[in-house]
Amino acid sequence: MIRLLATISILTLSAFNVERQSPLSNQAMGTTVHVEAVNGEDCLPLVMSIFNSVEFQLSEWDGASPVSELNLNGSIPLSEFPEVSLYALEQSLAVAELTNGAFDPTWAAMWNVWDFKNGIKPSDELIQAKLPLVNWKHVSLTQGDCAFQQEGMAIGFGGIGKGVALDVCKKELDEFGVQDYLIIAGGQVLVRGLKDGKPWKIGIRTPERVAPHAVLHLTDTCVSTSGDYERFFVEDGIRYHHIIDPKTGYPASGTKSVTVVTNNATLADALSTALFVIGPLEAMKLVNEQEGVEAYIIDSEDRVHMSCGMESLIAY
Ligand code: ADP
Ligand code: MG
Repeated sequence: MIRLLATISILTLSAFNVERQSPLSNQAMGTTVHVEAVNGEDCLPLVMSIFNSVEFQLSEWDGASPVSELNLNGSIPLSEFPEVSLYALEQSLAVAELTNGAFDPTWAAMWNVWDFKNGIKPSDELIQAKLPLVNWKHVSLTQGDCAFQQEGMAIGFGGIGKGVALDVCKKELDEFGVQDYLIIAGGQVLVRGLKDGKPWKIGIRTPERVAPHAVLHLTDTCVSTSGDYERFFVEDGIRYHHIIDPKTGYPASGTKSVTVVTNNATLADALSTALFVIGPLEAMKLVNEQEGVEAYIIDSEDRVHMSCGMESLIAY
């Protein structure tokens, strides 16, 4: 274990470099999950079992998952909806409220409309036909069940799921007494404690630059980055990417990348997606009103926008 750590000790600077080289990685939720525990604990098996379990409970792809059952039937008794699925739904609805619907789990009605894999842009008629189905206020959550108020609605947790998994990992690893560690899951990072007695160094990446845009010094917090370069296709010079503005049904414009730092991974994940939709100026207003939340936004003109407390996290 000690030997393995020596080989990856320099890689935490830029989260995006770690993935291919680390022997402490595995695949889940469509991304590479990387774990580094400073004191040599072998955390990867536990982390992967949590990611795999959360992935199933939040999956809108797996036909046997509770979310698929909800999407298929339009309702599900809470007795059949696992705790993690309910947590993801409640947190999604809370962030939807906070962001005035910029984050909306019911965006998933647009699921088959946008085909990023094959790069197929839907017709405007199809988007307009589906758009009324995207409305988080039409998800009713009672003591007994969760139900959609309109036929054809669906929920998807792609914008929050990795954050949920990280929060579960944090809880479990805390219980095991692991103190100093890092988990990276795609654009989501969780850091606990210190690395060699110092804060962890986490790079904010951009698609064009090999070197990080900025390096943050962090401890006991979470970092989430949402970018327009993760899943996209280009048609007639326009980049169509996977973060959808629920008000228009089209990919959100004006932003290239949003990085959120806050100590709850679920909130960090959902907020980075939401702030991307909101746009840099309004997003900064919202962030500066929230205690314990910082953001670093690169807009479509490559300008950097930082929240009031972000500067103090950057290592120059
Ligand atoms: P990543 O999966 O790369 O970490 P994000 O956390 O930014 O990306 O989330 C993007 C994903 O969130 C999309 O692939 C989709 O599953 C979902 N999504 C897209 N638009 C929205 C939205 N407006 N609200 C909530 N979820 C969204
Ligand atoms: Mg997200």
